[in-house]
Formats: sequence, C-alpha cells, structure tokens
Amino acid sequence: MAENPQTLRLYNTLTRSKEVFSPIDPANVRMYVCGPTVYDYAHIGNARPAIVFDVLYRLLRHVYGADHVTYVRNITDVDDKINARALRDYGADIAAGRLGLNEAIRKVTEPTYEQYQKDVTALGCLPPDQQPRATEFVLPRADGKADMVSLIQSLINRGHAYAAAGEILFDTTSMAEYGRLSRRNLDEQQAGARVAVDAHKKNPADFVLWKESSADEPGWDGVFRIGGQPITIHGRPGWHIECSAMSAAYLGEVFDIHGGGLDLIFPHHENEIAQSRCAHGTAVMANVWMHNGFLQVEGKKMSKSDGNFVTIHELLETDKFGGRKWPGDVLRLAMLMTHYREPIDFSVRRLEEADATLTDWAKRTDGVSATRPSPAFLEALTDDLSSAAIVAELHALRKSDPAALKAGAELMGVNLESHRTRSLTHRYEGPQAHKAISEEAIGDKVSNRLALIREKNWAAADSIRDELLAQGIQLKDGKDPATGERITTWEVKR
Ligand code: AMP
Ligand code: ZN
Repeated sequence: MAENPQTLRLYNTLTRSKEVFSPIDPANVRMYVCGPTVYDYAHIGNARPAIVFDVLYRLLRHVYGADHVTYVRNITDVDDKINARALRDYGADIAAGRLGLNEAIRKVTEPTYEQYQKDVTALGCLPPDQQPRATEFVLPRADGKADMVSLIQSLINRGHAYAAAGEILFDTTSMAEYGRLSRRNLDEQQAGARVAVDAHKKNPADFVLWKESSADEPGWDGVFRIGGQPITIHGRPGWHIECSAMSAAYLGEVFDIHGGGLDLIFPHHENEIAQSRCAHGTAVMANVWMHNGFLQVEGKKMSKSDGNFVTIHELLETDKFGGRKWPGDVLRLAMLMTHYREPIDFSVRRLEEADATLTDWAKRTDGVSATRPSPAFLEALTDDLSSAAIVAELHALRKSDPAALKAGAELMGVNLESHRTRSLTHRYEGPQAHKAISEEAIGDKVSNRLALIREKNWAAADSIRDELLAQGIQLKDGKDPATGERITTWEVKR
C-alpha cells in the first residue's frame, strides 16, 4: 500500500450519494466494469466508460499500490446481435455447409475483439487485470471458477428461478429488494408491461436466465435439476447472468466497485444484483455502483441504433470527423474535460480545445521530469474523479510547476512526451497536406477559432491558426466594415 492513502470519495448510485470509499480488503481492491459486446466497431460513446474507469483504476493503483487492485472488464461474445451479424455476413456459407455457426460467430467476434483492444490502447487505457469472455463461462469449468449454469442452478435451488416455455426465468417477486438500485418498484413495472407478449412469465418483470436455442442460434447443453429431475436445455444465457458469473469468478461474491454507463442501471445492473445476491445469499453484490453519463450528439445519446455515431477507429484513423485524424490522447482529454457523471456534447470544437491544451502542456513540459502530482490535483481527483477540476488545476500548473503538471497528466493516463513528438511530426508532414483539406473543413475550423476567441481561449484559437498554417493555409483577421465584427479570411500559402 502507498504510504499515505488518500481519502477517496465516490458517488454511489445505490445510495445516490457521495461516500468515503473504504475497500473490503485494501490489499486487493476489486472492480468490475461491463465491457463491450463484440459484433462491430466500438463508437466513441463506448470509449467513455473505458476511459473513465481507466482513470479510476490508475487512481486506485496510486492510492493502494499497483499490485493491490484487481480490475475485471468482460467481453460479451454471446448475444443475439452477434448472432444476427454472423448470419448476415456468413449466412450463405452456413447454409451451404462451408462454415459452422460457431465458426461464423468467431469470425465476427475475434476481429471485433482485436479492434477493441487496439482502440482502447490508443486511448491510453491500461489493460484490465482480467478480460474474461462470456463464452468461456457458460458451462461448469475444469478450474472450478464460477459459471453461468451453476449460478442458475443455485437460483433454482434457492427458489428464485423457474422453468417455463423453454426458458429459465428469475422470479422477481422472490427478492424483497428487487428494484433497489434503479428505484423502481414491481407494481410500476407491472402496470406498464404488455401481458400478452410474456404470457409464460409469472410476473411481467421476470427476466431470462437461460433460453432454448434453435439450430441457427448458438447453444450449449445446459443441465439443470428442477424438482429433482435433471433436464438438458440446449440453449444460451440471458444477457445479465454472464456478469454475475465472471465477477464472482475473479472477484468473489462481494466486491468493491461495479461500473458501467448510465443505461446499464436498469435492467442490466438491477438484474445482475438480483442474480448474484440471491444465488450467494449476500446483502450486496458490490458496495459501490458507479455510472458514467452519456456522450451525446446534438442532445441525443450516441448509439448504434440511432445512427448518430462515430467509431473510435474512424476518429483515430480517418478524417470523417472534422476533416482530420485525432490522436487517442486528444480524445481522452476531450472526454475528461467534463465530469464523468455529466453528459458530454461531442463536437470538433471540443477536440480542438483538447488538442490545443495538450500541445500547450507538451511544450511547457518539454525536457522536464515529472515530480509528484500537486495536492490540489489529487484532491480534485479523489473527490469523485472531478476531472473538470483536475484539468483546470493542471492548466494552472503549466506556468508555475510544469513538473507537477507532467506528473498529474501521467496519473490521468495522458502522455505529454508522445503528444509532443507527434505534434512535431505532424508539423513536419504538414505542408504537403493542404491539398487534402477541404474548403468546408477550413471553414469549420475558422468558425471554431472565432468562437474560441470570443471565449478568450487564446491558446486553443492560436493552435487552430498554427495547425492550418502547418497545412499551408494562412488566416487573416480583419473587421467587417459594416458591423465592426471580427472576420477571418484565408488563403493558400505559397
Ligand atoms: P454496449 O456495447 O452498448 O453494451 O456498451 C458498452 C459500454 O458503453 C456500456 O458501459 C454502456 O453503458 C456504454 N455506453 C454506450 N453508449 C454510450 C454513450 N453514448 N455514452 C456513454 N457511454 C455509453
Ligand atoms: Zn454487466
């Protein structure tokens, strides 16, 4: 453990209040975060929990010691969306007998999994200590670690689950505290439910633990004892049970922190809690439940289904967003400029501001060795990861104490050395690039710069001017003779 553990305060969704964090075992602080469903590129909304909980992981390691924290983030590689994608892309091969269903599924999940690892590495995220895949925790395991089928059996044995119409369901009325996390009560849920659809359920809120699979759905032979008789249901797990199994497998029945995005509070986390507590007979599953806010575009959550998404890969590797590629650390800082529980409105402006800030910090810390993070920085970070305050504090340090700025940036996972090296390379490559930048992209940058000037954010405004200059575009500031307003024109520099 570190010599002087800081007092860490975290907002707990379970109690709707900020609490002093006190780990069950300071020698092994345990955190579980719900990871990606691997069927397609992750979008930058999905990057938010990866970054936010990476900062928390780094902070926990700083406070309790790097060897005293266990961070588990799962990979969901069984899901109806994955199955649908496999049938869409390889349906003909499957029908012709050239490919088995499981192989087709692997062809979807493997490259997506690899891509996710590349994406989050580029965003400066440390690999979690464990990244278990759901498909490896379906059936009882040779190593005796928790698995889904055994967990479902415990729920059956304890009277919390029943079989109906080829499914095994969780009986929500069997748990007095069901709904505690999301603060919903069962009466409200029943009033809103469509009875006809769920006629086989005892209660409309009951959810699936295991469901029968047809020939074109992935399946495992789950053996369950119901009323003394073993029955085999060739099927697949419901959505929630995997996290109950994999968290128990690596962190035990009760652990410290469970995280994910706001959208997971209900039903996913509510149901994880129900399964884990009822299977193990414990009073809690995790002590602290943390949820990041949404990344939004024009006031709406970024999501695949709404089509308003940009993938992490596109942002890093193409000029689809704002006419240029964005380094991972720029996206990382852009994300951390807002407190993790607040919504973020995502824009080119935000990325430009983060880029300018990083370039400025990198310049000021050139040749400086990192010392310790400043007390004010640590105070902000330990106060429920007040990252907006941290960024302000780091910015204040850039003149007074660049060494502490560097140390603080490192603790947040932002590497100023590599940003400096890259921006130099970028400058060097710049002049040939002017042909590539569209007039529209230049226009966007000019108006973003004007907005930054109005906010007196000179550093960010200057950086846009410098960046355009490096691409062979020279800006000229003047005044509109009619209105007296500042106007900016541009020309290609010869
Ligand atoms: P999914 O792959 O959709 O299950 O999402 C993986 C993680 O990303 C979960 O923790 C989600 O809550 C989170 N997430 C998804 N969309 C957004 C968004 N627009 N903003 C922030 N977090 C999100
Ligand atoms: Zn989960």
